[in-house]
Amino acid sequence: MIARVISDVALDRRFDYIVPPELAGRLRCGAAVRIPFGNSVREGYVLELAEKCDYPPEKLKPLLGLSADRAPVPEHLIALGEWMAEYYCCSREQAIRTLLPAAVRTGRVRPATTHVYSVADEAAARKFLEDNRDKKNASGRCSLLQILLADGASSREQLQGFAGFSASSLATLVKAKLVAVEEVTVRRDFRRFEVVPSSPLPPTPEQKLALDAFDAMLDSRKPPRVMLLHGATNSGKTEVYLQMIAKVIDRGQSAIVLVPEISLTPQTVRRFRARFGDRLSVLHSRLTDAERYEEWHKVNSGEVSIVVGARSALFAPFTNLGLIIVDEEHETSYKQSEAPRYIARDVAVMRGKLEAACVVLGSATPSAESLWNARAGRFKLIRMPHQVENRPAPRISVVDLRSFSSEPGKPGGGLFSPPLVEAVRRRVELDEQCILFLNRRGYSHVLCCDLCGYEARCPECSVNYTYSRRRGTLSCHLCGRVEPAPELCPSCGSPELRRFGAGTEKIEETAAKLFYPARVARMDSDTMRSAADYERTLESFRRGDIRILIGTQMIAKGLHFPNVTLVGVLNPDLGLALPDFRASERVFHLLWQVAGRAGRGDVPGEVIIQTMHPENEVIQFAAALDFDGFSAFDSGFREFLHYPPFGRLIALHFRGEDENAVLDYAEKIMAELKPYLNSTLRVTDPAPAPIERIKGKYRYLALIRGEALALVRQAVRVLALHRRPPKGVEFYVDVDPQSLL
Ligand code: ADP
Ligand code: ZN
Ligand code: ZN
Repeated sequence: MIARVISDVALDRRFDYIVPPELAGRLRCGAAVRIPFGNSVREGYVLELAEKCDYPPEKLKPLLGLSADRAPVPEHLIALGEWMAEYYCCSREQAIRTLLPAAVRTGRVRPATTHVYSVADEAAARKFLEDNRDKKNASGRCSLLQILLADGASSREQLQGFAGFSASSLATLVKAKLVAVEEVTVRRDFRRFEVVPSSPLPPTPEQKLALDAFDAMLDSRKPPRVMLLHGATNSGKTEVYLQMIAKVIDRGQSAIVLVPEISLTPQTVRRFRARFGDRLSVLHSRLTDAERYEEWHKVNSGEVSIVVGARSALFAPFTNLGLIIVDEEHETSYKQSEAPRYIARDVAVMRGKLEAACVVLGSATPSAESLWNARAGRFKLIRMPHQVENRPAPRISVVDLRSFSSEPGKPGGGLFSPPLVEAVRRRVELDEQCILFLNRRGYSHVLCCDLCGYEARCPECSVNYTYSRRRGTLSCHLCGRVEPAPELCPSCGSPELRRFGAGTEKIEETAAKLFYPARVARMDSDTMRSAADYERTLESFRRGDIRILIGTQMIAKGLHFPNVTLVGVLNPDLGLALPDFRASERVFHLLWQVAGRAGRGDVPGEVIIQTMHPENEVIQFAAALDFDGFSAFDSGFREFLHYPPFGRLIALHFRGEDENAVLDYAEKIMAELKPYLNSTLRVTDPAPAPIERIKGKYRYLALIRGEALALVRQAVRVLALHRRPPKGVEFYVDVDPQSLL
C-alpha cells in the first residue's frame, strides 16, 4: 500500500511513501502523518492511497506514523482542495491548508483537559470510612470519599467547590488506589446566549414561491441546484433562509450560511440563534484560537448542524451537507486576497456540486456573474421585488456640487451643499437621525504647496499621503507608513501648505460645527479599533445620543436604525474614477446599500447624493433605484470590452524593486505562454498597474481574457508554481480577480 502525501513545504508535489504494516487498513485519506523528508522529519497530509506507484518500490521509504497533534483534513473536502489548487493556480499545499483553520491544523491549540476522579473500589472505600470515622487526621480524605460515593465521578474543579477539599488528601487517596483518576477532554462552554426563541413566519406569496422552488430543488437530482435569490432589501430573504435551513435540518442534513464579515453583527447572529439555538455555531474573525478550535470540533463531531460565518466557514467539515447559503453574494469580500485567491461564492457552488448539496445565492443587487449564470440556465433565478411591509422607497435626489462652488467664507463650503445642510438641520430638529457617507478616511487627501508644487506623497507607493489633523500625521493607506506632518513645505519652506480633498475626519469636524449642538460621531477604520468601539458607537446611535453618524463603507451595510430618515452621500465620484471595470458596479452597489439605511421606520426615507457628475449613468440609475437598468447598462459595457462575465479573466502580477527586472521577467513569461494562446483569447502586454508602486515595489500587470481559458490556465499555473523568478522578482496569478488596481 502506497500513500501519496503532500508535505508542509509548498512544492505542489505529492510524494509516495509505503504505508507501514501497523497502519495498513487503518490509514485514511486526509490523515496527518510524519514523513522522512531528505534528512529531516516533516508533517504532511495523505491525499491518496494507492496499490501501486510509478517508482520502483525499493526506492520508497515508509512513513513514520500518524502525527501526534494534528487533526486530519476531512476526507470529503480533499477533492474540493484539489479543484481549488487547479482552478486558482495555487499549490496543492496552500489549497489543502485552507480547508482547516490554523488553530486545528497546527496542533498549537490543545483541547482543554481536566482530571476526573471516581471511587476505585467501593467496598474498600466504605471500609476506609468505617475505620477512620473518628480519626481527625483522616477527615479530609473521608469527606472526599463521601462526596465521590454520593456524587459519582467528579472533576477536580467540581471537588474544589466543596468546603472540605484538600489537594493533598486527594493525592493520598489516589496513591492508595482508593480513588481512580482519568484525564478527559472538556468542551469549553461558549454558549451563554439568552435569546427569545422565534418561530417561522407564515410566508408572503413571494417567499412562498422561493420556498416552493427550493423544495423542488431539494427533491431533484438534476441541475440547476443553485438558486439565485434576487430579493429587495427587506423582502424577507433572511426569513426564507431560516425556513430553508429548517427544511434541510428536518432531513437530517446540515447547512452552512456565509455572510460578509461586516454583516456578521450581533443582530444577525441573534436571528439565527433565536430559530436554531445551540444547533448553531458562529465563526467570525474575532474568535480566539481556542474558540475556533472548539467550534471546528463541534462541527466535526456533529454536535451542531448549522454554521454561520464569514468566508472560511465554507470549509466547515460537515459530512452530510444539504445546503450552502451565500448571502450578499455580490460582495467583493468573498474574494481571498492571498493564495489561494478563491471567491467563496464560486467555491460554494463547487462544494455543492461535489457533495450534492443545494446552493442559494442571495442579494438585493446580484453580481453580473451570477445574473449571467442565471440567464444561461445554470442558476435558478427567483425574484422577490417587494418589501414585506410595504414601506415606500426612499426619495432620492441628486445635488450638482458644481453649482455650489466652494465658498471658503462659509463653514462647510464645498463639502456640504446648501440643500444637504438644510435637510440635515430639518431632520435633527424633528428629533430624527442622519447618516453621512464618504468612502474616504482621514482629514484631507492632498497636502501640497502652491508655491513650489510640492505634494506629500508616500515615498514607497505611488499615492498621495492622507493628512490626519487630529494626530498631526501623514499616512499611506496602502502600506501603512506614518510620519509627522510638516509645518512648513519640506521643499521650499513656505508656511502656506494647502489641504484639499476631504476625508471622513474633515467631514466630522465640519459637521460638528455646522450642526451644533447635535452630536456627531465618526465610524471608519481609523476610529473603530475594536469590536467594542464599534458596538459602543452603534449603541449610542441607537439610543439617539448621537444624531449624525459619519462613516465609510463600514456603515453602508446591514445597519437597521428606524429613526434614520436621511442619508447624505457626500461624494461618490471618487469611486467612479477608479480605473477598474468593476468601478461602476461597486459604486452602484454602495449607493444602493447606503440608500437602504434611510427610512427603515415609519417615516419615509430621504437620500441626497452630492456629485460633480450628475449626468453619470451610474448615479442616475442609483438615484432611480433602477437595478435592471443599471445591470443592462453595465453588461453592455462589459460585453463590448469582453470583460467578465463575457469571458473569463486571469491577471498575472509581477512585482519587484528593480523595474527592469520585473518587466524582463514579465515579458519572458508572456513569451512562454504564446503557444497556449489562440485567436479567441485577448491578451494585454505587461503594463504598469494603475497603482504603479506599493512599498517600493513596481507592479506590472498582464491580463488574459477569453472564454476557454482552461489550457492557458494550466500553463500559467505551471509557470507560476514551478518556475523560479529571478531574485527580487515576484510573480503570482489571480484567477477571476475582483480588483485590477
Ligand atoms: P431581508 O433579509 O430581505 O432584508 P428580512 O428577512 O430581514 O429581509 O425581513 C425584513 C423584515 O420583515 C424583518 O423584520 C422580518 O422579521 C419581517 N418578515 C420577513 N418575512 C416575514 C413574513 N413572512 N411575515 C411577516 N414579517 C416578515
Ligand atoms: Zn505607502
Ligand atoms: Zn513649497
